[in-house]
Amino acid sequence: YAAKRSGTGIAVYASILDLHNPRRLMLLSDLGRMVREKAFELHFQPKVDLINHDIDGYEVLTRWTHPRLGSISPAELIPLAETGNHIGLLTETVIDVTLEQMRSWAPQFKPTLAVNVSARNLVDEMFPERVIQAIEEYNINPAQLELEITESAFMHDPQRALQSVSRLNQAGITLSIDDFGTGYSSLSYLTDLPVQALKIDLSFIREMIKKEKHQILVSSTIQLAHGLGLAVIAEGVENEDTARALRKMECDFGQGFHFGAPVPAPAIMRR
Ligand code: C2E
Ligand code: MG
Ligand code: MG
Ligand code: MG
Repeated sequence: YAAKRSGTGIAVYASILDLHNPRRLMLLSDLGRMVREKAFELHFQPKVDLINHDIDGYEVLTRWTHPRLGSISPAELIPLAETGNHIGLLTETVIDVTLEQMRSWAPQFKPTLAVNVSARNLVDEMFPERVIQAIEEYNINPAQLELEITESAFMHDPQRALQSVSRLNQAGITLSIDDFGTGYSSLSYLTDLPVQALKIDLSFIREMIKKEKHQILVSSTIQLAHGLGLAVIAEGVENEDTARALRKMECDFGQGFHFGAPVPAPAIMRR
């Protein structure tokens, strides 16, 4: 795979599948230790009620600063963790640190925290039980933990993924579909899945003001979701015009730089 020249003159590799890519090899070999030593940071991005601007909860986003290569984006980290077979432990560790964080907060501060889950996690039969056990160990109300799943999770083994989601839902954990609109699956899975919310992908939201077709897609998705009894979250809300348009469409929640970027835990305590 060819290396591309970025603006800064640093080579950016087109594919993480390149076995001869030294950057990838270094990251892969350090990933396992990073996960085991919890050498990552969690950032929290507010999810805001579009009517009264109350913070309903936060999405948890993983940040890894490699000692030599610097900041590694989740877009690079997560696929690598999947390739290297570290995604099971990574997700479970992220959930663990999230629950620990919840327990450390003052009793009157009880936001919902949403963790991203990989497709791989949902086909692991042990995953739901491990999450449920962790919630019990930390003595957390299961409804305070939300798990964000993507449509792609249902591509390979839909039966098993559905079983996992059902088990998590039975235990009282909140579930939402992330990046809605970017997958290729049929809409029928929306009627089968026990989820509470749908997050419209930021690619539709960011272009909404300029593109009428995007607006039609967004407003139809909101109506569809509401018809099925699901709450709707718009991701990638970057300005007030977009927030206003979404409010008009009766979208429930917004997330994006307009309301707040992802920040470390201490910063959200000071808001
Ligand atoms: P996502 O779950 O859809 O998260 C939203 C992404 O959009 C985040 O990027 C967030 O920083 C970014 N974002 C938020 N507001 C705005 C905005 O107004 N404009 C723009 N342009 N971007 C915005 P991030 O943190 O780089 O994460 C990227 C993806 O990596 C996430 O997409 C999620 O799928 C995945 N990810 C992150 N942390 C984890 C994790 O712990 N586990 C797993 N499995 N996946 C993770
Ligand atoms: Mg997400
Ligand atoms: Mg998303
Ligand atoms: Mg996304």
